[in-house]
Amino acid sequence: MAGAPDTVATLLRASALPALEARMLLGHALGWRRTELITRAHAPLDAAQVARWRELEARRGAGEPVAQLVGTREFYGLEFEVTPDVLIPRPETELLVETALGAMAGRAQPRVLDLGTGTGAIAVALASARPDAQVWAVERSAAALQVATRNAARLLEANRPGGPLSLLHGDWYAPLAPALRFDVIVSNPPYIAGRDPHLGQGDLRFEPRAALTDEADGLSALRAIVTGAPAWLAAGGTLWLEHGYDQAADVRALLTARGFRAVRSERDLAGIERISGGQFAEPPHTGAASPR
Ligand code: GLN
Repeated sequence: MAGAPDTVATLLRASALPALEARMLLGHALGWRRTELITRAHAPLDAAQVARWRELEARRGAGEPVAQLVGTREFYGLEFEVTPDVLIPRPETELLVETALGAMAGRAQPRVLDLGTGTGAIAVALASARPDAQVWAVERSAAALQVATRNAARLLEANRPGGPLSLLHGDWYAPLAPALRFDVIVSNPPYIAGRDPHLGQGDLRFEPRAALTDEADGLSALRAIVTGAPAWLAAGGTLWLEHGYDQAADVRALLTARGFRAVRSERDLAGIERISGGQFAEPPHTGAASPR
């Protein structure tokens, strides 16, 4: 049927997707910016453009995350590449960045460590906001590390005073040079319990399972990071961890038991205690047998 040609306006009106998602996917299908979707809303589209949109619309309808379909997600004002190999950066994780920046305030050339960096969102955001900081980021997944490497290269100044982001491949503290000490350690580790039904819902079905769950009680990664942190913190250094909506009291207890002081949690924009942290006041260890 040779009806009126499809346009941005007709495609958006006909789509069952939420309006914002439909706009993001259509803009991606056409290679148009948000403003072009408005100024060119009634321009006729050709068959190839409509076909690209139909494919994205169908894949989104089948559950694929918008961030994976468009290949990017904004976090802390920066546009990060996203693939199925990485956790999609979440808005609530910006609280971890802001709190870490607070802990870095007043320290010149602070040394910072991000454990399980994924896209690199936290580490790159910190390095971008504090060009003088030296930032290390560790990731166990080789595929994720490649995404983080590309994000760091694209989003950070080549000549930032703190030097390039140091991306290391391995398990939590394992790949770090033994003499390193950090003023701030941050992490958004896998904290969903292995039997949590949320793993089978929404975007989480398409994200790497190892970025979401420890396949145990949800606390094992948090526990490992807290346990290891004192050996890697400079005197007075700070650890901040993102965790699940119901884990704040458990994480505060882990921190207190490990000798952290000024232990507290902060609420995200939804009012949920989303991150917990504390300061390690004493010099980490004396003698040769410092446990790591
Ligand atoms: N915040 C994510 C979610 O609940 C989980 C991220 C994580 O496990 N670190 O969807």
